[in-house]
Amino acid sequence: MRKSKRILVTGGAGFLGSHLCKKLLDQGHEVICLDNFSTSTKDNVSDLLNHPGFELVNHDVTTPFRFEVDEIYNLACPASPVHYQSNPIQTIKTSVLGAINVLELAYQLRAKVLHASTSEVYGDPLIHPQPEDYWGNVNPVGVRSCYDESKRCAETLCFEYFRKYGLEIKIIRIFNTYGPKMQWSDGRVVSNHIVQALKGEEITIYGDGKQTRSFCYVDDLIDGMLAMMETESNFLGPVNLGNPAEFTILELAEKVLRLTGSKSKVSFLPFPSDDPKRRRPDISLAKSKLGWQPRVSLEEGLKETIAYFRKVFQ
Ligand code: NAD
Ligand code: UDP
Repeated sequence: MRKSKRILVTGGAGFLGSHLCKKLLDQGHEVICLDNFSTSTKDNVSDLLNHPGFELVNHDVTTPFRFEVDEIYNLACPASPVHYQSNPIQTIKTSVLGAINVLELAYQLRAKVLHASTSEVYGDPLIHPQPEDYWGNVNPVGVRSCYDESKRCAETLCFEYFRKYGLEIKIIRIFNTYGPKMQWSDGRVVSNHIVQALKGEEITIYGDGKQTRSFCYVDDLIDGMLAMMETESNFLGPVNLGNPAEFTILELAEKVLRLTGSKSKVSFLPFPSDDPKRRRPDISLAKSKLGWQPRVSLEEGLKETIAYFRKVFQ
């Protein structure tokens, strides 16, 4: 039988965090969910509030905190470009000071830390698909760098705490993940296109829509995250977690239109600066070290996500 642990999830009320909290509670663990609700609401975890093993704490990760826990999942950070660019300095503080506060606590408690990094550390990649040993192509002074560079710095901090203190750290690089519980106004492409299709509004395509992304369904991602936390202590990552099936944004829009039966028209808007033109994870390492690979196709995952948003707008 699995031993029950006390686990802290920063950013636990967010899209990924809320799924993670639920899964950990289902496994019999106690969960402390820390969030400042800057890009989420309590609604995401409302179904967990009456669970005896669940505690919700309103706190900003940029100031220190202390809870007695065995493990920490560090997810607190805005993930949508619209959100992280709306207050870039706060984004940097959240990533960097948040990581320091998490790592300091983990050091005091000798707790294990899983840090949520991102495919964005590869920037606008010159190597395709992206393996973990690719160092990336990031503009350090562009509008995305508040996120990209602070996430890179957070990875560095994890490694320095490992080198100096032998802290047990795990880094995952998450590629575009979607599913129920994304905020409808989040601004990411999957939620935007579904919401626009359901409301009969124009589907917004930035640029010519030929840029690609590889979309991972949330359940697959959470399985990968949990598998990473359970790997042997000398495996730190970073490890890519994502679905290697690659689609253009136009292909995504066509699928959403077909699956919703919407008559929305497509409208083309300017291509955002530094927006990566191609992105696809090389998941060989995740396959070999975690025995993990995604199972849910884009079509299946979109159907679940569309059903969720239909309920939100009922
Ligand atoms: P999200 O915006 O839905 O969730 C982030 C959560 O962190 C929110 O609940 C927000 O309120 C909270 N938060 C933000 N700043 C905070 C602060 N200073 N103090 C406390 N809480 C704070 O985003 P998500 O998609 O759930 O992403 C979760 C993590 O995964 C992030 O670290 C993100 O960078 C990473 N990630 C996600 C994706 C993806 O496709 N979903 C891809 C790459 C990386
Ligand atoms: N995008 C788009 N229409 C939208 C939102 C995003 O065409 O309404 C594009 C965006 O320019 C990017 C891709 O879709 O090329 C993925 O954007 P998202 O914000 O979901 O995530 P990113 O991978 O850029 O962090």
